[in-house]
Amino acid sequence: MRKFGPLGLFLVFIAVAPLVLPAFYVTLLNYIGLATLVTLGLVLLTGVAGIVSFGQQAFVGMAAYTTAALTVLMGLSPWLALIASLAVTAAIALLLGAITLRLSGHYLSISTIAWGIAVYYLLGNLPMLGQYSGLDNVPAVAVAGWTLDTGRESYYLIWVATVAALLGARNLLDSRSGRAIRALRFRGVMAESFGVDTAALKITVFLYAALLAGLSGWLYAHFLRFVSPHAFGVNAGIDYLFMAVIGGASQVWGALIGASVLTVLKEWLKDLLPDMFQRSGNYEIVVFGVLMMFLLHRTRDGLAPAFARLLPAGPARQRPPDAPPLATRARPPAGQPLLELRGVQKRFGGLLAVNAMSFDMHSGEILGLIGPNGAGKSTLFNLITGVLVADAGQIRFLGQPIERATQREIARRGICRTFQHVNLVSTMSVIENVALGAHLRGRRGTVSAMLQLDRQEEQRLFAEAARQLDRVGLGEHLFEPAGSLPLGQQRIVEIARALAADPVLLLMDEPAAGLRYGEKRALAELLRKLRAEGMSILLVEHDMEFVMGLVDRLVVMDFGEKLAQGLPAEIQNNPAVLEAYLGGIE
Ligand code: ADP
Ligand code: MG
Repeated sequence: MRKFGPLGLFLVFIAVAPLVLPAFYVTLLNYIGLATLVTLGLVLLTGVAGIVSFGQQAFVGMAAYTTAALTVLMGLSPWLALIASLAVTAAIALLLGAITLRLSGHYLSISTIAWGIAVYYLLGNLPMLGQYSGLDNVPAVAVAGWTLDTGRESYYLIWVATVAALLGARNLLDSRSGRAIRALRFRGVMAESFGVDTAALKITVFLYAALLAGLSGWLYAHFLRFVSPHAFGVNAGIDYLFMAVIGGASQVWGALIGASVLTVLKEWLKDLLPDMFQRSGNYEIVVFGVLMMFLLHRTRDGLAPAFARLLPAGPARQRPPDAPPLATRARPPAGQPLLELRGVQKRFGGLLAVNAMSFDMHSGEILGLIGPNGAGKSTLFNLITGVLVADAGQIRFLGQPIERATQREIARRGICRTFQHVNLVSTMSVIENVALGAHLRGRRGTVSAMLQLDRQEEQRLFAEAARQLDRVGLGEHLFEPAGSLPLGQQRIVEIARALAADPVLLLMDEPAAGLRYGEKRALAELLRKLRAEGMSILLVEHDMEFVMGLVDRLVVMDFGEKLAQGLPAEIQNNPAVLEAYLGGIE
């Protein structure tokens, strides 16, 4: 009952507001709803996925003009025009996204500025669209013969759309795709290593944000019954960014808070400031700028945390119930050739980080890869997992060449890894991080997530994540933010995440670093158990005591090359290895 309290109250408020409030406030709420739609898109795009867009107002404008032109000039019904508006929005978003999102860096953000300016001048200069005076007499929307031609009537249309979008976005973030979206901002390489198509996902988020803006534009045109370019200038785009940041850019409900605060404030300042300055002008943007700087100085998370107790609760925090286990992979019988490297080479400028590396690994063994710092071990991991592409040489996995395969293809074949530098989404809970590891074992996409058609699969993914966390001894920490655990435990979370992918070959980059003695023993015990179950493990580790008692065989690297290989006892007495270690580190 308490959990649904805030959401229930909000819905009741939205339902009765137009029945009891004066017309002025109903109109204000309409503007808030319209702004919330656009801001919500920005929250997902900028706040969660980390892609800054200055061009959302241009999507609003394109959709508003599409529907105005089709209904005013061509007499189309608003509902048909809705389909056309969203189609136009989607086509433009896909085109912009396809051109810019595959490039790294800030190309998209910059192109959204250009796109925003271009749309403003385009709309303002086309005689057919009324140039800067716009288009008048846009018809009202009719629902089942009822024409929504007052603010009070439009209200329900706007708020049904807004509430649906808010709930859809909330559901999306709490899903298989949502976890991947939340990894986009800082953990793209990690997400790819668990099979997430980050480029496609970025385009999906960009498209979703554009569609929300387009929906807002369509509603705007039929609520105001009038469109002109001024509402869709670059200023408006910055207002939306302010709303997202002030509300709390990474939270769904922050969109509502930011849109409400700014819309009300703007209305108020529009009367107040020109009086104060004795002349007219858009002074509110100065106030917003100062407000935002002040807010960011105090808290990076915007206003949402201040409203935390009023906001609907996040994802459930009970231990997931048992669910039918996910399908598992067939493992090759022990002793079969698993991984073969032949003459693998990688150069970084003048540095030959990996040179002529050749070795074989068999299924069911733990192979240790040791060597001084900078020997090239992590680089070799990156070559095997497709993060980097080798300059020369062959890598075969289960007999198939993988040296040109992408990270995702390699993950799909059953190679998973942990990272030397912990690569968790620190704001996401431990169990969500581990569930991300099982990404390829689920199927459900963004649309079924929004509609919550994914609940059964989600239960199975979470049950699997909980099982793996129990297995590594972190069953008590399921719902803590991953970033709040000590570093050693975060490494263990990485192991659970890799195990959740059900790998054939597990690559571990210094898993025992930062662990206490007892924890190291527990880890060694776990790795032995995994081996007994048929898992193959390639292990990079510095702690010799840990390595020697655990691995079946060792490969020693130094300056990018293979120095020696053999059984632990042979390596311990190998003069070249002793020399490298004594002359090197420790
Ligand atoms: P190890 O994991 O054995 O400590 P690394 O594989 O991390 O060693 O690094 C091997 C060498 O390659 C080091 O000299 C390191 O500085 C260099 N190196 C690693 N990654 C890069 C990179 N992306 N660009 C340039 N140099 C790199
Ligand atoms: Mg390393």
